[in-house]
Amino acid sequence: MTRDHAIARAAQLIRSADAIVIAAGAGMSVDSGLPAFRGSDGLWTALLPEGMIEREVGSLTQGDCFVARPEEAWRFYGHALDACCHAAPHDGYRLIRAWAMAKPHGAFAYTSNVDGQFQAAGFPDDRVVECHGTIHALQCTVPCTESLWPTDPVNREAGCALPACIHCGALARPNFLLFSDFKWVPARTAIQQNNLRLWRRGIERPVIIEIGAGLTVPSIRLFAETFGAPLIRINLEDERVDRVADVGIRGTALAVLREIDAALTAGTRLVETIR
Ligand SMILES: [Zn+2]
Repeated sequence: MTRDHAIARAAQLIRSADAIVIAAGAGMSVDSGLPAFRGSDGLWTALLPEGMIEREVGSLTQGDCFVARPEEAWRFYGHALDACCHAAPHDGYRLIRAWAMAKPHGAFAYTSNVDGQFQAAGFPDDRVVECHGTIHALQCTVPCTESLWPTDPVNREAGCALPACIHCGALARPNFLLFSDFKWVPARTAIQQNNLRLWRRGIERPVIIEIGAGLTVPSIRLFAETFGAPLIRINLEDERVDRVADVGIRGTALAVLREIDAALTAGTRLVETIR
């Protein structure tokens, strides 16, 4: 299949769907200037606070890092949180929302990104699953409770006392899933998963657009492949698909979304001309 055919096929799949499911990995955030906070794909360097070297970051991806090295863990993730709060979602989010507006059931996003970019781009809270949690909510490190609370901007300032649990006073941590993380509170993500299950029941012809999902931690690819819908896979490194009905397009998120948008717009113009 040539690239033009692949783009045209993707536009056709989107046109025939009654709902759009976005399955987004780290590659979706890269065009907004954000790396994968949980991965180890060499993008960490962009977020290293002054005086911290990349070698030190590895142990800060482990579940016990907030208890084992609280100062360093909070310095690193506080810096990451600042980056998330300041990054404006790239134009690809707007394109997807525009496509979704024309669908009876709109769109749902399922992402491993913890940066909150979908909500920042206007996706309602009940239309997003953050399967690895979020950097924008805090939880207790113990944890003494399953309840979460919003990240306080004051806590991000350098030199401030480390964030404490508002219930028991123990150290607080962001509510995202790290590696070997047995203390992560999954309550918020579980509610989001349930929202998706309920929404899924009402739709008949979904299309799934998988964007920038890596192979190292394949949660997003697995979700996309087992959702039970035609799949459009956008990936910079490995865009191959197994099923004939699916289509793979090589490239970065924003560039490919723009190409598909151009094909959709051209298709609409053609239909209007024929009318
Ligand atoms: Zn607590």
